[in-house]
Amino acid sequence: MRFVAVAAADGMVVRLGAPLSDIDATVGAMRRRLTFAIGIAIGAALALGWLASRLAARPLRAMTESATRIAQGDYAIVPSTSPDDFGILSRTLASLGAQLEAKLRELTEERDRLSAILAGMAEGVLVVDAAGEVVLANPAAEMILGPALVGKRMADAVTSPALRAVIEEAASTGQPHETEVEAGPRAIALYVRPLAARGGGLVTVLRDMTRLRKLLVVRRDFVANVSHELRTPVTAIQGYAETLLRGPVDEPTRKQFLEIIHRHARRLGALVEGLLTLSELEARPPEQAVRERVEVSAIAEHVRATLRERAAQRETRVDVDVAADVIARGDPVAVEQVIENLVDNAIKYGKDGGGQVRVTGRRRGDRVLLEVLDDGPGMGAEHLPRLFERFYRVDAGRSRERGGTGLGLAIVKHLVESMGGTVEVDSEVGRGTTFRVEWPAWDAPAYPRAS
Ligand code: ADP
Repeated sequence: MRFVAVAAADGMVVRLGAPLSDIDATVGAMRRRLTFAIGIAIGAALALGWLASRLAARPLRAMTESATRIAQGDYAIVPSTSPDDFGILSRTLASLGAQLEAKLRELTEERDRLSAILAGMAEGVLVVDAAGEVVLANPAAEMILGPALVGKRMADAVTSPALRAVIEEAASTGQPHETEVEAGPRAIALYVRPLAARGGGLVTVLRDMTRLRKLLVVRRDFVANVSHELRTPVTAIQGYAETLLRGPVDEPTRKQFLEIIHRHARRLGALVEGLLTLSELEARPPEQAVRERVEVSAIAEHVRATLRERAAQRETRVDVDVAADVIARGDPVAVEQVIENLVDNAIKYGKDGGGQVRVTGRRRGDRVLLEVLDDGPGMGAEHLPRLFERFYRVDAGRSRERGGTGLGLAIVKHLVESMGGTVEVDSEVGRGTTFRVEWPAWDAPAYPRAS
């Protein structure tokens, strides 16, 4: 209970007494209402705040997503059309993406173009960085130095000490260097250029000169051979003619000298003829090659008739066994030259008296196969790989004595190959010789199928 006493007028006192439980009940009820109201207010404020933040963060989220996509390489961004700051930012981001894509495409094209140029170059290009590691090597460089060069140290990539020394020298002096070195069996021309002053890496350009050098040697040998071949008949003609001019000689000697002069002049003529034929063959572009229907049997018969007298002189029998349906694709004149050369050789170098030469021809798949066999003394295996070289002779004396120039088989090889054919020889001492020629058949596909 709660008691209250208040002094009133006249000395009276008013006293009141009320039970406390009523007041507590009222205060409690008010507190409950207040707590409920606060709860609702907080809940509403939270919900509104959440909603507002969601709405405000939506464009930001869209932009974060766009930026992530650009970072992942997807530049196709759809810009927002909204006029606010977020819209402007989104459009800037989309244009950034488009520019980045265009630049990247340009760079990729540039890189592809450069790699195509490097891949197509005959020269090897090797780039070494400042740390001495290979960062670029084109296929030609790998042909010269070996495979898988990128990532290796220069000293491991360039195994030839001579090549390495040139590169190291250029690296240490910082000066470009150009030279030609022998790297094992090959001759390599190289140009080394340091990229910046010292230690900035370097570019090396390599060129394999082996083939060119070989060609130069071949040319030098050829000129030496031609001069040598021409000198003998020219000296003989000069000598005998001078003797005849110097004073009177008896009739039989004069006749003998004239015959010698005539023989050497004929040899000279044959040599010049052979050399001209070879140079003409070399100068002829492949697209001008004749591709006609060639009846091999008729041509072989014709050759036999042409060489009948020569065969008779050497008492050699020439048999031709070529089926009528053996038809090649090529140049009939060249085919005749080839068969005539081979049969003539077989008669010249075959058995002395009573020899037999056989010309056989047959079809083999898409090809026509022609063989010229003799039963002469044959040749040792050591001669066969070089037999088709110009001026190569097994027995030079015998060849000259029989009017040979050493050019016949070189011409045969040229003629056969110009018709897309091959020629090979098989011979054994004491067992005779077989020359085997193959051409495309007339009805074979024009271009060989990929196997
Ligand atoms: P050559 O004008 O000397 O006959 P070739 O180029 O025709 O020149 O032949 C080269 C050499 O090959 C000949 O000198 C000869 O020694 C050898 N030769 C060619 N054919 C035969 C053959 N059928 N049998 C033996 N040797 C041959």
